[in-house]
Amino acid sequence: MTDTFETLAVHGGEPRPAAGGSVVFPLFQGTVFETDRGEAPYSRLGTNPTQRHLHRRLAALEGAEAAVATASGMGAITTALHSVLAAGDHLIAAGEFYGGTHRFLTEHAARLGWTWDLVNPGDPGAWREALRPNTKAFLTETITNPLTAVGDLAGAARFARAHALTSLIDNTLATPVVFRPHSVGFDLVCHSATKALNGHSDLTAGAVTGSRERIARVAAVLGSYGASLDPHAAFLLARGLKTLALRVRRQNENAQAVAELLDGHDAVAAVRYPGLPGHPDHRRAAGLLDGFGSVLAFRPHGGASAAEAIVKALRLPYAAPSLGGVESLVTRLDLGAAAGDMSGEAVRFSAGIEGADDLVADFAQALAQSPALV
Ligand SMILES: *Cc1c(COP(=O)(O)O)cnc(C)c1O
Repeated sequence: MTDTFETLAVHGGEPRPAAGGSVVFPLFQGTVFETDRGEAPYSRLGTNPTQRHLHRRLAALEGAEAAVATASGMGAITTALHSVLAAGDHLIAAGEFYGGTHRFLTEHAARLGWTWDLVNPGDPGAWREALRPNTKAFLTETITNPLTAVGDLAGAARFARAHALTSLIDNTLATPVVFRPHSVGFDLVCHSATKALNGHSDLTAGAVTGSRERIARVAAVLGSYGASLDPHAAFLLARGLKTLALRVRRQNENAQAVAELLDGHDAVAAVRYPGLPGHPDHRRAAGLLDGFGSVLAFRPHGGASAAEAIVKALRLPYAAPSLGGVESLVTRLDLGAAAGDMSGEAVRFSAGIEGADDLVADFAQALAQSPALV
């Protein structure tokens, strides 16, 4: 019954028959519940029935035993790290990292007594060099943002296991449609559900999936810090998940179509999208992933003024800094000097679910207005 991700997205973790015969699992907004013995459900602890339902759904989609939902993606990442690191422990962080994750490590790790090293996700030699006797965890990302690097993910999970480290991965950009990290051995998978899992740019949430034992530890930290997802948001997220496969596959198609237009266009100096054969990690991504994701980045010829002109000329994408929603978005970024052929002023595109032909036509007319062409 659940051979395809499409079917899993609709039916995975759904009780049949559901309460009262409802096809949709009901929203229990209540925070307290009667009990004659033991612990009553309580929403800060994530044990309200609608929260528990969402947890079953998230676990099914990632192919995990268990899941917890958090108040945001940052709540997922920080809670997962707190569940595995204690004062004196060391973390290997192999990736480019979402700005919020990088800021958390920069501003808070030292206060918590954690040390960490930032290493290249595609270079196992760098992981080995970073290893210390007190290393306890390995954190990486499926697809980095915005350069869309895809590291040696199966190798990373094996490396972590071989050195008794807990492996954690931020799977936000890929989603379980594109990659299911537990299938190659990752211990804890984190998401910003604010992005593609909900997909409609209208709620803030996060998720962590893993074994029952690991998720029990994450849930205990979450309950103590008080960062669970509100039941109403949990109900909405469970609804968003129903269309995850349809949305993400269309987004991937749209990103591929726009990437192919950008690739070799006279107004464009460089493009990064794992679905392009010229991408440094294309072959690895093709072997590991089912689709190449919804995010691409490109560097126009002509620097900041060209990037500004192109973004202004686009009619369909909103100029807004997020990703994974049904509306296409563009964001201007300065990638600094260390990004090789992508160094300097760039544009990130997060594909929505519009028609591919409309997006390609819009990019074609916007690129034609680049001052670098005249
Ligand atoms: C947005 C994002 C986060 C943080 O999610 P919030 O829901 O905004 O807290 C973490 N990781 C990645 C890759 C993201 O894109």
